[in-house]
Amino acid sequence: MATTPTSPDRLAVLEPATEEVLRELPRAGVAETDAAVAAARAAFPTWRDLAPGDRAALLHRLTGHLEAHHEELAVLEARNAGKPLASARGELGMAIATFRYFAAGPERLLGDTIPVAGGVAMTFREPIGVVALITPWNFPLSIASWKMAPALAAGNTVVLKPAELTPLTALRFAELALEAGIPEGVVNVVVGPGRTCGQRLVEHPDVGKVAFTGSTEVGASIAAGAAATIKRVTLELGGKSANVVFADADLEAAALAAPDAVFDNAGQDCCARSRILVQEGALDRFLELMGEAVGRIRVGDPLAEGTTMGPLISAAQRETVASFVPEGAPVAIRGEVPDGPGFWFPPTVLSPVSPGERAATEEIFGPVACVIPFRDEAEAIALANDTIYGLSGSVWTRDGAKALRVARALEAGNLSLNSNSSVRVTTPFGGFKQSGYGRELGPHAMDAYTEVKTVYYRTQES
Ligand code: NDP
Repeated sequence: MATTPTSPDRLAVLEPATEEVLRELPRAGVAETDAAVAAARAAFPTWRDLAPGDRAALLHRLTGHLEAHHEELAVLEARNAGKPLASARGELGMAIATFRYFAAGPERLLGDTIPVAGGVAMTFREPIGVVALITPWNFPLSIASWKMAPALAAGNTVVLKPAELTPLTALRFAELALEAGIPEGVVNVVVGPGRTCGQRLVEHPDVGKVAFTGSTEVGASIAAGAAATIKRVTLELGGKSANVVFADADLEAAALAAPDAVFDNAGQDCCARSRILVQEGALDRFLELMGEAVGRIRVGDPLAEGTTMGPLISAAQRETVASFVPEGAPVAIRGEVPDGPGFWFPPTVLSPVSPGERAATEEIFGPVACVIPFRDEAEAIALANDTIYGLSGSVWTRDGAKALRVARALEAGNLSLNSNSSVRVTTPFGGFKQSGYGRELGPHAMDAYTEVKTVYYRTQES
């Protein structure tokens, strides 16, 4: 059990698989946050004014340095976030790929020339200045990289506030950035509570933009707080995504893939397809196949070979998740968990669930899936869209036209047909409705870290 309690000025970072203290850190407050913003502000002109090729070269060097420390970062992430080492390796691989992709950005920050009377107008994409990045604990360094890489490539300096539960890879990242030659003050990390450090970043007059991933509730408070200084904001928030399985689908493929789509990262995934809509007639066979797949999930020590699911992030998260599976809940499938310390929760499938029930409407952020039967295409679309969220989702059918028709009808930012994969470095990612606004990753991500400036040049002789 944890022996070092967190206090106002000390933070005990726990290992969720053991409940032991992994690291003790000083805890930042408003003064440290202000110092980080001041450092970022001081570093901004030099970073902005670097020749694009020089900024690109530094980001390529950073990418190489991260690659050299891939395994070290993956082990740290696996221990701190309680995720299987193989998953942590994959996520860190994506963080590295994200830096590689955006390292090419400084030299591709293009503007337009626009024909106008009397001269020429041209546009420039200018960096915003100091950008605050507030990130969650579920995919710590990979989500931070989605924000940091385009922000830095566009010439901004950053203050990253990771979640207090998982700050370790962010701190190591800052050291690696310095070693790779990124100038002092360009990357700053503040480890402290959201309600003090996060809020200060949102209010700080020298911060030009906040990029946030986390709960819809905190996202709404950030948008409201940022309004006072008209800060730019991008929000990547919660989800309650639908996995729509038609009876004419390759049922085996859909059912075998369904557990991973919701239990990956122990269900602590904003893209989790936690509402599995299955067409009547296919339901029994689907559940039978899904049960076999859930039986193959190995919950246990994140560092052990063969583990496919780790613990939840905290005791509080486990309590929240458990509240969605009360006595008498319709548990159709339940996996195994280890004994002893660790914030374990078994992969659990509830079926059948009515669409209005709490487990079917709220983001659970744990390994609990709801199976909801539907009659036809129209009902599937109505059920899938009956949510405040709109982040991702899947459609499984062998009818190509129906797949596209349903994908177009679903109110979500990232859809997959006969697949559950949502996130790629090279494609835009973000939500509809209360899943947020703005898009990360992909070819246009730097737009969200720049202002468009229009310059008119008179060429006409007077
Ligand atoms: P939060 O939204 O509270 O936390 C996300 C980040 O925001 C953390 O860095 C947190 O800091 C910071 N933060 C918290 N309050 C404020 C504030 N007032 N101003 C500025 N920053 C703030 O998520 P939780 O960790 O509490 O998780 C709760 C639920 O949110 C989950 O169960 C899940 O449903 C959802 N969630 C969704 C995520 C997603 O990927 N979309 C990710 C994480 C959570 P700190 O924690 O250090 O205090």
